[in-house]
Amino acid sequence: MPSCSSSSSSAKKSPADDGKVYYSYADIHDSVSRLVPTLQKEFQPTVMIAIGGGGFIPARMLRTELKAPILAISLELYDDATNTIRPKGVVCHQWFDENSEPGKLVKDGNVLIVDEVDDTRTTLQYAVELLLEKCQPKKVGVCVVHNKNKPKKGTLADEIAYFAAENVEDHWLCYPWDAAEYGRSIGQHETLARQCSGESSENDKSSS
Ligand code: 5GP
Repeated sequence: MPSCSSSSSSAKKSPADDGKVYYSYADIHDSVSRLVPTLQKEFQPTVMIAIGGGGFIPARMLRTELKAPILAISLELYDDATNTIRPKGVVCHQWFDENSEPGKLVKDGNVLIVDEVDDTRTTLQYAVELLLEKCQPKKVGVCVVHNKNKPKKGTLADEIAYFAAENVEDHWLCYPWDAAEYGRSIGQHETLARQCSGESSENDKSSS
């Protein structure tokens, strides 16, 4: 297991009545921002590779502070069509253009792979191994908003730097960009996110 850095933790959230934990855009932004000084000090990324779709928005938040460009890849462990884990593991739907200007930064660069959540670690292991196989980065790091405290199926070599903004319990985490997938407006989602933080307000009654 690589050495592991995380930011000082934000207020703990509790699951909603459905057992899921809801995060607001501000929760994500806050967690990611608190990780920036550690990333600057310990990794100094040249370029980021965002794993889509969940890594895109955290990577965009990081870009403003780290000033490193974003490359996009698309990997899928869960089959969106059936909502189940793909029996054959991770599928790579999209890789970045290694000859583009940001793509050229990968070879010999400090490359930070960004995703929203480290659940079983299968996707992160796949991403790191594919990157090492296809390119020759100087250093590879992994950065997630949430690391679930649970036994992992995937492994990362010791030389891979690992950064988690938050270490959380093993619940299903609901992100604001997926609100429509759960049949909610962003207002309803953000209400649940506040409730998971132990907050409530008069406004919440009208949007729940
Ligand atoms: P892995 O099991 O490979 O670490 O995670 C695979 C992918 O499953 C993640 O990149 C993420 O897209 C999805 N995933 C795993 N756990 C959760 C969760 O709690 N909430 C959401 N929204 N996605 C998850």
